Amino acid sequence: MELDKKKEKEYEYEDEYEYDNILKGKAMTRYGYHGRILHAHLNDLRLEIETPDESFYRTYGGGSALGLYYLLRHTPANADPLGPQNTLTLALSVLTGAPISGQSRMTAVAKSPQTGAVGDSQGGGFFPAEMKFAGFDAIVLHGRAPHPVYLWITNGQAELRPAEHLWGKTTDVVEDILKDELGDSKIEVLQTGIAGENGVRYAALISMANRANGRTGMGAVMASKNLKAVAVRGKDRPKVFDSKGLNALAKWGAKEFPESDAYGTGVLGTAEIVLSQNAVGGLATRNWASGVFEGHEAISGHRMQETILKERDTCYACTVRCKRVVEVTEGPFTADPRFGGPEYETLATFGAYCGIDDLAAIAHVNQLCGQYGIDTISCGATIAWAMDCFEQGLITTEDTGGVELRFGNAAAMVQMVEQIARREGFGDLLADGSDRAAERIGRGSEELVVSVKKLEMPAHMPHVKRSLGLIYAVNPFGADHQSSEHDPGYRAYPERMAQIGLTNPQRPKEMNEAKVEFALRSQYVYSATDTYNVCQFVFGPAWQLYDTAQMAEAIRLITGWDVTVEELMQVGQRRLNMLRAFNAREGIGREQDTLPKKMYKALSGGRTGGLALSRDEMETAKEQYYAMAGWDAETGNPTRATLTSLGLEWVADAFER
Ligand code: SF4
Repeated sequence: MELDKKKEKEYEYEDEYEYDNILKGKAMTRYGYHGRILHAHLNDLRLEIETPDESFYRTYGGGSALGLYYLLRHTPANADPLGPQNTLTLALSVLTGAPISGQSRMTAVAKSPQTGAVGDSQGGGFFPAEMKFAGFDAIVLHGRAPHPVYLWITNGQAELRPAEHLWGKTTDVVEDILKDELGDSKIEVLQTGIAGENGVRYAALISMANRANGRTGMGAVMASKNLKAVAVRGKDRPKVFDSKGLNALAKWGAKEFPESDAYGTGVLGTAEIVLSQNAVGGLATRNWASGVFEGHEAISGHRMQETILKERDTCYACTVRCKRVVEVTEGPFTADPRFGGPEYETLATFGAYCGIDDLAAIAHVNQLCGQYGIDTISCGATIAWAMDCFEQGLITTEDTGGVELRFGNAAAMVQMVEQIARREGFGDLLADGSDRAAERIGRGSEELVVSVKKLEMPAHMPHVKRSLGLIYAVNPFGADHQSSEHDPGYRAYPERMAQIGLTNPQRPKEMNEAKVEFALRSQYVYSATDTYNVCQFVFGPAWQLYDTAQMAEAIRLITGWDVTVEELMQVGQRRLNMLRAFNAREGIGREQDTLPKKMYKALSGGRTGGLALSRDEMETAKEQYYAMAGWDAETGNPTRATLTSLGLEWVADAFER
């Protein structure tokens, strides 16, 4: 199905209009964006192009906020997340594809089938930049196709093609078929996998067979639309306002990188922190019973480098090169370099959470998650929860189909990942995530779940980073470790913190009003990174290569807009309020802003042995946070005044209709 001719004509008219203005000396050149958003109406296989004006891009920036704009506009309250009413947006930003590190990111936004709340997930690699070069700033997916299709976009043209032959195949095979079919080995493919097709609630979107938009089940949403993949290729690079200035900033980054605190991420990948997390008692072990894991060295980035690391990999134009590529050719568990290598979160959830110190087994399940399209965090954490239930006698081999699902059993873990992807045996239950599985099993298994808003918790422990517990609780799409700066950053980077209005450094284990302010203001910056779609290892308020002021400078150089740190933070604040507003519409607010019961039980062993979080401390922090955020104290929802101050009257109005 070709583009809707009428809309295409409208677009041509836009170009004519621009040409007319150029002739009159009033050029309306767009910098950093195309001004073209592709809408795919899958019910009747119809495509159309929307051409928003510059103020739209400046207000929403791209990424998560842009996706939320369409979600709030097009998805009615209480829609089925796996039904045709859910709107899935794949959004780039005004920075995507520019020649500087850390900009090749894409955000997927829809209602989450895992949580029932707003879903939001970022991924990197080469797909985002290539999608930009293919000529669009975002793709908005409406409805459900009558049969499996894929979307092919090249140089501003889009087409929906049959995809029956791709259904049921692993991501690597699909990518090979599409490159062959489209006659170009350089196309980039974003796809849902077998897990998404089978409705695994934490199914991921995968590109390059090794990069994931992992969290909140966006792969299941794409599959529910009968859309298997999006393939992109193009040469349409948006103009940069100040190429010379951007080049100088990129060169500064490349020169500074070896001296910067981001350097370790490049050398050892995110796996760098396994040892330090364990040393402070912050490596969640055996389903969060302890913060120390006796097998930490065996699953560390250092061990990976000595043994199975084949090479480092990168995202488009990034100097950091933090991605791992591993290879295991012998033994019971192998790993093909095509599927990259495990990140810290994968090592922790399939490793320490499950009491498994077998690096090859973790590399193998990392490959399976890439091949099938599964979020490694929720998958590893859900298996760890099931192992905990098994160890405590709440489930037996009768439940698991004969599998001895004990901590440390690597073969059982691998078997469960296979079963989850195909929804076979006990894996069918685990494919719904730990909360829903616990609801079905009962017998006290609910007490062992470690999640917020049904999203399994990532591997950073709030016991050693107190404000992270607050952010885990209040974050609209569930527990997330990349929605605010972690506590050690406040004391370690005072000058950078001052840029975002934080001048009262606090210790990591302190929790007080100053820490709440740190959590909220750094959350605005992180929220901006997910809106401008930049990598949080490259741009951020603390240890990253570029600080917040440099992020604003990069936006200025690319777009020509006079963006300040204050405007950048307001963009982040706007996106946070949109996330929260979506939840409010679904009846999700303060009551769901809670940490799992396990957080209030004492840990065993190491430096955090005997430590538990305090409910009173958390409730007080929440109240302070709502007040600072301009949210209603009782409901935790954004007030009309707050929404209005952010230019979101239309969101407030929608609630009152
Ligand atoms: S730091 Fe790593 S994840 Fe981020 S853009 Fe660079 S290579 Fe990609």
